[in-house]
Amino acid sequence: MSFLEYAPAPESTAILNLKSDYGLFIDGEFVPGHGKSFATISPATEKHIATIANANAADVDTAVRAARKAYDSTWSKLSGADRGKYLFRIARLVQERGRELAVAESLDNGKPIKESRDVDIPLVAAWFFYYAGWADKLDYAGLGAAPRALGVAAQVIPWNFPLLMLAWKIAPALAAGNTVVLKPAETTPLSALLFAEILQQAELPKGVVNILTGAGDTGQALVQHPDVNKVAFTGSTAVGRAIAKSVAGTGKKLTLELGGKAANIVFDDAPIDQAIEGIVNGIFFNQGHVCCAGSRLLVQENVHEEVVDRLKQRLSTLRLGDPLDKNTDIGAINSREQLDRIRELSDIGEAEGAERWTADCAIPENGFWFAPTIFDNVSTSSRIAREEIFGPVLSVLTFRTPAEAIAKANNTPYGLSAGIWSDKGSKILAVADELRAGVIWANTFNRFDPASPFGGYKESGYGREGGRHGLAAYLTTASLHDSVVETKAVAQ
Ligand code: NAP
Ligand code: MG
Repeated sequence: MSFLEYAPAPESTAILNLKSDYGLFIDGEFVPGHGKSFATISPATEKHIATIANANAADVDTAVRAARKAYDSTWSKLSGADRGKYLFRIARLVQERGRELAVAESLDNGKPIKESRDVDIPLVAAWFFYYAGWADKLDYAGLGAAPRALGVAAQVIPWNFPLLMLAWKIAPALAAGNTVVLKPAETTPLSALLFAEILQQAELPKGVVNILTGAGDTGQALVQHPDVNKVAFTGSTAVGRAIAKSVAGTGKKLTLELGGKAANIVFDDAPIDQAIEGIVNGIFFNQGHVCCAGSRLLVQENVHEEVVDRLKQRLSTLRLGDPLDKNTDIGAINSREQLDRIRELSDIGEAEGAERWTADCAIPENGFWFAPTIFDNVSTSSRIAREEIFGPVLSVLTFRTPAEAIAKANNTPYGLSAGIWSDKGSKILAVADELRAGVIWANTFNRFDPASPFGGYKESGYGREGGRHGLAAYLTTASLHDSVVETKAVAQ
């Protein structure tokens, strides 16, 4: 047994009390869906977890009506302090049921338990605590005097951080006084359904949050429903673009959090040990299923060889396997479709002439897996330098001067995040100033905090989530609101 081999330490699933079938969560109750139900599986074993209801257009309509009624009759009548109490209660219940939520998330999504337990679920609680604190202070959010809620928010989220993306959407919406209809991703509905149980436990008034499981057409029916006032979407740029088109001219407020192809820039004066850990965290955290992943390593030419060698050594020590094992660093790829896409783009990278290196690790027989992979000597025009792979694949490019690093970093249709590694604060600030990215990390990567706004430039979307800025997406100032009402009155 080498020092790298650990005895298995699987987290028990005994804490889960799952139902065999889950309905839609509408008006405070689980109800059957009218679409064809589907299964959610564990991507690590391909085993069935539960049967999930599918919302058709009629179900979407029922849910939006429930949210409207809850907005008109209850939620908009509550004081901010009372809304805050519900949010605090939800945050505490998330903490109380944290272990259960972490196990459910790792089972359904494939991410390592150490990540769901130590990152995802604590951040979910932190997001609810943070926005609970804002609920009675909206007048001081810098959005004008007496900002008002928009009404009903339609929210559609992806599979990479299922419960965390739910928290990013629901916490600010409720704090600002809106009601919600949310659709989780088809492959990861489980934690949202456990969250619905938490809402029942918290005795949140009926209809304030409705959760509709289903596929893309459920999402489409939801964002196109005429009675929603706000659409918040996180997912791919292609779907985001289609939503922007469908929402144009309707008066619905829209925020889009889309893809990314972040540059992680390592200068020769960087603390190399920390940089190696940061590069690994930047692209191999959550199997690289991270919109802000540092998927393009830009390394200064004179340290290129050293960095790549040490990176390979480090990747050779990562443990890939059972997401529920506490020793696991790299879990399963979320779905067969995603695995196919990662394989396809990696093959293209090789065909385009980049040097492929893959960590030597045993791949489990069942489930969806992709070993950590590096592409060296990638050219800026290569597809693996331009397109989001959304998997554990790093493209390495080099530069000689800060100006070249900046030009290469900005040479992308995206602009969500970036990282800078250097010993010199002045250099970090000067480079950060020139980067067209919404979030820039210095000597760290993939750090999240509810008080910090997050969002992109260009094809990475618009609007900000998190912080005071995240409230703006769910509020209108009194003057703007009145002018909209007046415009509508004139139009009628
Ligand atoms: P996706 O296909 O765009 O799906 C996102 C969500 O939209 C899912 O719930 C999906 O349902 C639903 N959907 C699909 N088609 C729709 C339509 N026509 N109208 C309305 N909703 C629709 O993206 P994905 O493959 O799940 O997620 C990966 C992408 O999300 C990556 O590009 C990543 O960068 C991006 N992402 C961005 C952020 C961010 O904060 N910027 C965070 C996470 C992920 P189904 O599940 O049934 O397909
Ligand atoms: Mg699943």
